[in-house]
Amino acid sequence: MHQGIMKAWLESSHLSGANSTYVEEMYEAYQEDPSAVSDDWRAVFDNLPPVDGNDTHSPEPAHSKIRDYFRSLAQDSRTKTTGRVSDPELDAKQVKVLQLINAYRFRGHQNANLDPLALWKRDAVAELDPAFHGLTAEDMDREFNTGSFAYGNGTMKLKELVKALKATYTESIGAEYMHITDTEEKRWIQQRLEPTLGRAAYSKDVKSRLLEGLNAAEGMEKYLGAKFPGAKRFSLEGGDSLVPMLREIIYRSGEAGTKEIVIGMAHRGRLNVLVNVLGKRPAELFDEFAGKHHEDGLGSGDVKYHQGFSSDFETPGGNVHLALAFNPSHLEIVNPVVMGSVRARLDRRGSDDGLQVMPITIHGDSAIAGQGIVQETFNMSQTRAFKVGGSIRIVVNNQVGFTTSNHHDTRSTEYCTDIAKMVQAPIFHVNGDDPEAVAFISQLAVDYRNTFKRDVVVELVCYRRHGHNEADEPSATQPVMYGKIKKHPTTRKIYADRLVAEQSLSAEDITGMVNDYRDALDKGDCVVKEWRPMTLHTVDWTPYLNREWDEQYESAIGLDHLKELAAKVSYVPETHQLQSRVAKIYNDRDAMAKGEKLLDWGFAEMLAYATILETKKRVRITGQDSGRGTFFHRHAVLHNQKDGTTYLPLRHVADKEGPFDINDSVLSEASVLAFEYGYATAEPAGLTIWEAQFGDFANCAQVVIDQFLSSGEQKWGRLCGLTMLLPHGYEGQGPEHSSARLERFLQLCANHNMQVCIPSTPAQVYHMLRRQVVRPMRRPLVVMSPKSLLRHPMAVSSLEELAEGGFRNVIGEVDTLDASKVDRVVFCSGKVYYDLLDRRRKENIDNVAIVRIEQLYPFPHEELNAVLADYQHVTDFVWCQEEPQNQGAWYCSQHHFWSSIPQGAQLSYAGREASAAPACGYPELHARQQESLIASALKL
Ligand code: AMP
Repeated sequence: MHQGIMKAWLESSHLSGANSTYVEEMYEAYQEDPSAVSDDWRAVFDNLPPVDGNDTHSPEPAHSKIRDYFRSLAQDSRTKTTGRVSDPELDAKQVKVLQLINAYRFRGHQNANLDPLALWKRDAVAELDPAFHGLTAEDMDREFNTGSFAYGNGTMKLKELVKALKATYTESIGAEYMHITDTEEKRWIQQRLEPTLGRAAYSKDVKSRLLEGLNAAEGMEKYLGAKFPGAKRFSLEGGDSLVPMLREIIYRSGEAGTKEIVIGMAHRGRLNVLVNVLGKRPAELFDEFAGKHHEDGLGSGDVKYHQGFSSDFETPGGNVHLALAFNPSHLEIVNPVVMGSVRARLDRRGSDDGLQVMPITIHGDSAIAGQGIVQETFNMSQTRAFKVGGSIRIVVNNQVGFTTSNHHDTRSTEYCTDIAKMVQAPIFHVNGDDPEAVAFISQLAVDYRNTFKRDVVVELVCYRRHGHNEADEPSATQPVMYGKIKKHPTTRKIYADRLVAEQSLSAEDITGMVNDYRDALDKGDCVVKEWRPMTLHTVDWTPYLNREWDEQYESAIGLDHLKELAAKVSYVPETHQLQSRVAKIYNDRDAMAKGEKLLDWGFAEMLAYATILETKKRVRITGQDSGRGTFFHRHAVLHNQKDGTTYLPLRHVADKEGPFDINDSVLSEASVLAFEYGYATAEPAGLTIWEAQFGDFANCAQVVIDQFLSSGEQKWGRLCGLTMLLPHGYEGQGPEHSSARLERFLQLCANHNMQVCIPSTPAQVYHMLRRQVVRPMRRPLVVMSPKSLLRHPMAVSSLEELAEGGFRNVIGEVDTLDASKVDRVVFCSGKVYYDLLDRRRKENIDNVAIVRIEQLYPFPHEELNAVLADYQHVTDFVWCQEEPQNQGAWYCSQHHFWSSIPQGAQLSYAGREASAAPACGYPELHARQQESLIASALKL
């Protein structure tokens, strides 16, 4: 080993002497970045023997040992060789040259020419000056080894090297990638940037295509500005390069084999992207500007700059389906929605490496730095449940935060993109006024994503030509910037002049282009020549359209077959050693499967999944504890106590069954729920579930509930069958873990937008989950799911109850009471039912009937009427709830109760008093309150 190192050391071009200092410095450079030294030296360092058992690549103390080691080698060589003696000064300079290269790679972006307005004030980076490294004017004509710098042939005059470094790292592209620890990725980026000095040699056709994109971007805004003066359009102007950029990304992806791209973006520039990239007909947009309402069966609709769109786009590699996601006003929340939609499409296609479907998210500079959901989405990007093979993240940095803010008010980071470093994403900043650099770096980004399956960021540094909206006056708050902008030529003009100057196009060609585009807008037809009508290569949603919750459906599964499934779901191979508590649960399940024991909640739930999976449909469950279940009730994933391997009984219910994906999620609610919403809006066939660890955690995802789940169908016509399991129940666990905030969901209910259910038995949860898949309606299902009921001795069901019937929206009295003696009927939902029943039985009360309302919305009037048929003589009805009076169902649902009781009858309330907190924190107070509400409901 030592001899090999010695040989390499002696034979290396600059190293023929005994210069241990040089070697040490070289080694230091290698430690900082292995790619900073030449291949032969890296080979030497890579092969260094471990010192005292340490990895030689780790820093001190191993380093000092290595130094000694090289010193000894140097001495050795002096005694053993008579040949070449190096120039120590030149060798030292050689190291400095390598450090200079490194400095450009690390910090060139800080002095790159990124801002089209030249307003960015950035200090000169000292390390980029050769003098900083002790390199002098005389050195400029000296030839040096250029190490791993991928331009040229390994040696270069210093002045040429500096020129090449400047061209690569400090012109229109600022490449930030040296924070990546993976050497292969860094080398890959260097190999793409350096050989061509950070630019592409585009053909005339491509140049003309880029100009067409700019022409369309600018032409469209001018046209809208003239036709609808003062109307809000959130113009793209200043960031015009976004249009050619997106088009190049689509081309590149299509060539690589991508079949679908899902795009998420906020309002700025959206109309432009809709018309000039996705191919929305301008005439349709103009109608929207004119305020026309299309009678297309959609609900209340949304403003034009929130609209989504779908189309196909022809590329040399085949058609790519494009879907621009609908987006509410919250700027960044669409990102996890897009990722979820992409994951659903990848799963459907079986494209595990992410190649076939790609996400593009477009961010504003203040939003990407300001909104926590961005961090959450980055954090998900490489996890099992949420990875999508990387995303392209474009930041349109127009240098004005939301309406009027400067960057020092909107972030504390150097770049708005710094958050992306948490996943070591490469970040490419690019001057928006250089469309060729934009295209070059965008293509590189696509290739990087497809090669490494990781996120990559391109920051388009540009400006905003007008105010926040077109009626706004920006110079009131940004006088200097807008003074500059007024005089600044458009990107199209800059590029057109450049193409004329280099004789790629003539001035007449360019004028022709402008006129043609305007004529096309006049005609109102699609202006994207690559646009193709959508083919049905995605999903057919027609079976799910115009369906209602009370539609009849067939879901019965024969008892014998159910028993077979039960046996499979409770089977665990003998070699798989279970933890003792889990083993007890599976022993019980075995007895349940054999009909020796009544079913508990966890087993009924598992059986529901089994019945769905055997029909080849997918079941996907995510949540903070979903494999095991927060309350230890599910155990869908069994961990072998011997070796940690896992066994999932639900993956063995049929020969060819649907995929069962169950994954513990990242510790987030907003991004996870948004992701699952995106998944369910792109995958109608299976069952998609998000489970909150405790129901109140859904608070953190309120924006997703308000802006997507409850209103997405009405605003955008997008159906979503997502199920949310939200543990809810008053068990003395204090204010935070008792309530899933039922009242908030009920308050959002209208137009049959979602279902809110509180199942009270294992058979009910089984039927409810099956119904969500078997019935063709696709609307969110919000479940107040239990905690103590998971093990409540009364909350059990027989296999027969599962085999027969379906979900019961209302469950009438279960004891044999004489209806004519009943003088009070108590309505309730959820766990309180068992408290009422238990107490009534204990007190031998026979004049109070208890009716469970298992679906609070849409309200099951007919079923409740049927149950109340026997109680038409009763005048005393009570709604009993555990929640405080201002919470739970009392205020939101009592109009439904009133409309169901006989005329003249009274409805009263039995529950906790109104409270600012969801529940009290003292167990003793909780018990007293609970006793009081039960007593009040039962007239005790
Ligand atoms: P996409 O693949 O998202 O571009 O969708 C293609 C087409 O499928 C859309 O234009 C809609 O007609 C339909 N579609 C997609 N998602 C949904 C959904 N969640 N609800 C209803 N229709 C949908």
